Amino acid sequence: MDIGTNVTGKMVTALKRLGFDKVFDTNTGADFTIMEEANEFVQRFQNNGTLPMITSCSPGWVRYIEMNYPELLPHLSTCKSPHQMFGALIKSYFAERENIDPQKIYVVSVMPCIAKKFERQREEMQNDVDNVITTRELSRMIKQANMDFVKLEDSEFDNPMGEATGAAAIFGTTGGVMEAALRTAQDVLTGEDLEKIDFEQVRGGDGIKKASLNIAGKDIKVVAASGLANAQKILEEIKSGKADYQFVEIMACPGGCVMGGGQPIKSSKIRSQVDVRKLRADSIYSIDEKSTIRKSHENPILKTIYKDYLQNPGSEKAHELLHTHYVKREKYRD
Ligand code: SF4
Repeated sequence: MDIGTNVTGKMVTALKRLGFDKVFDTNTGADFTIMEEANEFVQRFQNNGTLPMITSCSPGWVRYIEMNYPELLPHLSTCKSPHQMFGALIKSYFAERENIDPQKIYVVSVMPCIAKKFERQREEMQNDVDNVITTRELSRMIKQANMDFVKLEDSEFDNPMGEATGAAAIFGTTGGVMEAALRTAQDVLTGEDLEKIDFEQVRGGDGIKKASLNIAGKDIKVVAASGLANAQKILEEIKSGKADYQFVEIMACPGGCVMGGGQPIKSSKIRSQVDVRKLRADSIYSIDEKSTIRKSHENPILKTIYKDYLQNPGSEKAHELLHTHYVKREKYRD
């Protein structure tokens, strides 16, 4: 299939045939991450909190800062990554709603990312996700099960956690988390339902993208960086006091999760002929454009779960389930 083909519906069908009882959309988890992260940013911005705030959804990046710049950990958002938030909600909200013992739920995340295998084992996140398989591993499992993937029909995600917004879809590319968070943060800061939701300044394949925005009469400087060499440049700026940004997105993999370490590997010949990152990123921007709901705070599932269960972003319950903390880590284990 062409690089960047949207195979979400076929993947749901394949997972059902492999034996999963429920297939939910991790992008719903991404909507929760955006809600919590955007509101954390607004709180820090309005109350002289530690700025710049740096995104925390890339475990490869989180591990890098823990090992190399532990003195800058207060800058990291306390939000868990989308699949960890999602696992926590499946074993709490969903389990309670369906009257299922959470011990009997086994959550598997399908991820573009190898670092998420480490992340799910972190001591502070033991009750969220039981296993992580990469997209590459899933494709092998589908082949081993003798399914003809190309011919599979599309299926819908299961409810109640199978609906996501365009904002969540763009999480997978560099600049996407920032853009998604800004869509919510600007509505929170202005108290309006703003129509301008495309932030072209943070799109594209550059390793570091900077933008100055004016939101609710306030100047906000943002940076989106991908690749750890670029992350290091931003961290050195923050450490030396030269950074004048308020919000920073960092993804460990150059180009973001579309180029994650768990994704299908393309040969050097293909990579010399086409821009794999761009084709994959274009696909998810197209999903965003076609979405009827493109702001995370407008996702009806989130509205229900906040109303019935979490109360507000940043509430005590939200902190218990959706946030975490970080520690200095040694580079080498004993
Ligand atoms: S950028 Fe790479 S390390 Fe970070 S979440 Fe995405 S795939 Fe994982």
